[in-house]
Amino acid sequence: MASRTDLVEELMSRHPQVPREAVIKEDLLRGGLAFDDAALTDNENGNVKPKSYFIFSFDHRTLPELGTAALRRPPEEIVLTGGPYELRRTVVSVRTNPSSPYRVGTDSDGRLRLFLDGRAIADVGLPPMPAYYRHTLANGKSVMEVAPTIQWGYLIYLTAFRVCQYFGAKEECQYCDINHNWRQHKQAGRPYTGVKPVDEVLEALEIIDRYDTEHASQAYTLTGGSITSQVNGLAEADFYGRYAQAIEERFPGRWIGKVVAQALPRADVQRFHDYGIRIYHPNYEVWDKRLFELYCPGKERYVGREEWHRRILDSAEVFGPRNVIPNFVAGVEMAAPHGFTSVGEAIDSTTEGLEYFMSRGITPRFTTWCPEPTTPLGRTNPEGAPLEYHVRLLEAYRATMDAHGLSSPPGYGPAGPGRAVFSVSSFMDTLPSADS
Ligand code: SF4
Repeated sequence: MASRTDLVEELMSRHPQVPREAVIKEDLLRGGLAFDDAALTDNENGNVKPKSYFIFSFDHRTLPELGTAALRRPPEEIVLTGGPYELRRTVVSVRTNPSSPYRVGTDSDGRLRLFLDGRAIADVGLPPMPAYYRHTLANGKSVMEVAPTIQWGYLIYLTAFRVCQYFGAKEECQYCDINHNWRQHKQAGRPYTGVKPVDEVLEALEIIDRYDTEHASQAYTLTGGSITSQVNGLAEADFYGRYAQAIEERFPGRWIGKVVAQALPRADVQRFHDYGIRIYHPNYEVWDKRLFELYCPGKERYVGREEWHRRILDSAEVFGPRNVIPNFVAGVEMAAPHGFTSVGEAIDSTTEGLEYFMSRGITPRFTTWCPEPTTPLGRTNPEGAPLEYHVRLLEAYRATMDAHGLSSPPGYGPAGPGRAVFSVSSFMDTLPSADS
C-alpha cells in the first residue's frame, strides 16, 4: 500500500504549480498531526502560545481522548521551514490527531521537527507567548479566553457567542462542532464564556493594544453562532454590531473590523457597516444545492440557499464586492453519505460557485474541512476529503481569480508562499505575493 509520503510526493509532482508548502499544509489541515509530549505547551504559564480553541475544536479527537494534549495544550500554530522539500516559511493551524502519520517531536540533535511516516520533513517553529497573554482582566479572565489571536498574531478572534442557535441534528451544519466544543470545555472545567460581555472584550483589547507594540495584530473578527431569535434581547445584526460599535468608538481604525454572520437582509447588513465593520463574511459553506440543503439544514430552513446567495450579492452593494468574502468549507462536498464521489465532480461544482461570485467581483475564501469526531460528517468521514481534492481546489481557485482579474482578498495579511499567515487553509500561500 502506498504511504502518505508517496501520496504527497505524487501530488507535488503532478501539480508543480501548487507550492509544495500548500500540499503539506492542506494534508496537515485535513488530517491533523500528533505531538510528542516534549512539543506540547505549558498552557498559559510557558513560553509557547497555546491552542485557544477559538471557535470550533478543530481536533480529530474529543478532549478526553487527547491524552496529555488535553492537559498541556498543543501550540496554536506551528511554522514549517526547510527539510527535503525546502519549505518556505509556512504557518499551519494545529488540529490534533494522535494517530496521524505527521508527528511533531525532537530529533537526535534535540531540534523540533515535523516527521511524516517517521522521516523528518521540516523544521518546526513554535509561536512565542505574546506579551498580552501574560496579563489578565480585572476579573481574572485571560486574554486568551476573551480575545485570542491567530494567524501568527495577525487576527484577533472574537467569538462573542460561543454556541449556535441552529441546534440539534435537524439544524446544525453537519460538519460543525461549535455546540459540542462549548459542552466539552464546560465539562473539562475550562473557562469558556458563552456570551462575552462587551466590557470584557474592550478590556482585553486594551491589553492587546498596549502590549502589541509591533502592531502584529491588524484585524479582528466578530463571530459566533447564528442567532435565529435573540441574545441579550438583541437580534443578530445588533448583537454582533454593538461590539464593533464599542470597539470603533474606543479604538477608531486601530484594526480592520470583520464580521462572520448569517446572510442577513440588506437593512441589517447596512447596520453592520454603520457600526464600523469593514469586511463581511456571509458564509455559503457548500455550493451544490442538494448538499447545502442536506448539510446546512438550519441555513436552508431559516433563509434558504437562493435567498442566501441573493443576500450575498445585495451586501456587495453595501460593503463593496471586494469586502464581501463568503467562506465555504473545502472538502465537505466530498463527504459521505451524500457528497460527490469523484474529485472531478466536486471541483466542477465548487468552481461553479467560485464563478458565480467571482464574476461579480466577490472573492470567496475557504477553510479546509476538519472532520471533527462529534459531528455527523466527521463520524462518517474520519479521513476527511482526499488530498487530491484540496490540491486541485487550490489550482481551480487561483485560475478562477485570474480569469476575473481578482487579487487576494483584503484582511488576510500578506499572500504568497513563504509569506502568508492565514493558517486554516493554504489559499493565501498559493496566491502570488504583491511584489511578485
Ligand atoms: S451556522 Fe452552521 S457552521 Fe455556523 S456556527 Fe451554526 S451550525 Fe456551525
